[in-house]
Amino acid sequence: MLTILILGGTAEARHLAAELNTLPDVTVISSLAGRTSTPLLPHGRVRIGGFGGPSGLAAFLRAEHIGAIIDATHPFAAVISANAVDAAGRSGVPLLVLRRPGWISREGDDWRRVPTVADAAAALPRIGRRALLTTGRQTLAAFAALDDVWFLVRTVEPPAPPVPAQMTVILDRGPFTRASERALIETHAVDVVVTKDSGSPSTAAKLDAARDLSIPVLIVDRPPMPTDAESVPTVPDAVAWVVRHSARR
Ligand code: NAP
Repeated sequence: MLTILILGGTAEARHLAAELNTLPDVTVISSLAGRTSTPLLPHGRVRIGGFGGPSGLAAFLRAEHIGAIIDATHPFAAVISANAVDAAGRSGVPLLVLRRPGWISREGDDWRRVPTVADAAAALPRIGRRALLTTGRQTLAAFAALDDVWFLVRTVEPPAPPVPAQMTVILDRGPFTRASERALIETHAVDVVVTKDSGSPSTAAKLDAARDLSIPVLIVDRPPMPTDAESVPTVPDAVAWVVRHSARR
C-alpha cells in the first residue's frame, strides 16, 4: 500500500483525493491548514492544522509511513510549499507539485500586473476609487491606510483589523458566474477589481465581467514555484504520476 500525503486547501486537492481514493493500492491523507471554520472536506482521511515547520512535517512523513507527497496547495501558499520541498528532501520522500496555470489575458482586458500585494496597494489610488477586493482576508492590512478608496471586500471568513476604513464585506467562496459578477460590479459602481493570479476557474468570472464593463484589473503575480520539485498542471497528470510511482515500487 502506498500512502500519499496531499497538502490541500484547493478544489484540485479535493478532486485529487477523490480520484486517488479509487486506486486499489493507494491510501490518501489530506492535510488542511485549518484557516476556515467550515472547510470543504476532501474524501477520505483528513488531518487539520500546521505540522510545526519542515521538521514537524518530516516527522509526520516518518510516523505515517508516507510514500509520496503531493503539494496541491494554493499558488500563493508559499511557506507550506517551501516546507514540503525541505521535508521531502530530508526524508527522501518523492514530491510532486500540482499547480494550476495562472490566468491568461484576452483581447479587451485591461490588466495591470504587480509583483506583491503591497505593490497593488501602492498602485490602487491611481487606478480607481471603488475596488472589488478579492485578495484574501490576510491581505487587508496592506490596504488599511487607503482612506480615499472604498472597498467591496469578498472573503470566505470575516476579516479582522487592520482593515480599510471604507469597506463593505461579502462572505462568499464562489463559484461565481459572469452575470452575477457583472451585477455586483454594476450595483456597487466598482471601478477596479483587485485580485491575485490564483488561476482558479471558479473565481475567473470577475475577469470576464471586468472585460465586459471595461474596468481595469489589478493582478498580483504569483510567488515563485518551488524549483526543486517536479510539477504538473492538472489532476489527471497528478493521478498518472501516482500510478507510475506506485508501479515502480
Ligand atoms: P502558507 O503561508 O504557505 O503556510 C503557513 C503555514 O500554515 C505553514 O507553515 C503551515 O504551518 C500551515 N499550512 C499551510 N497549508 C497547510 C496544509 N495544507 N496543511 C497543514 N498545514 C498547512 O499558507 P497560507 O497562504 O496561509 O494558506 C493556508 C492554506 O489555505 C493552504 O493550505 C492553502 O492551500 C489554502 N489557501 C490559501 C490561499 C491563499 O491565498 N494563500 C487561498 C485559498 C486557499 P506549519 O509550518 O506549522 O506546518
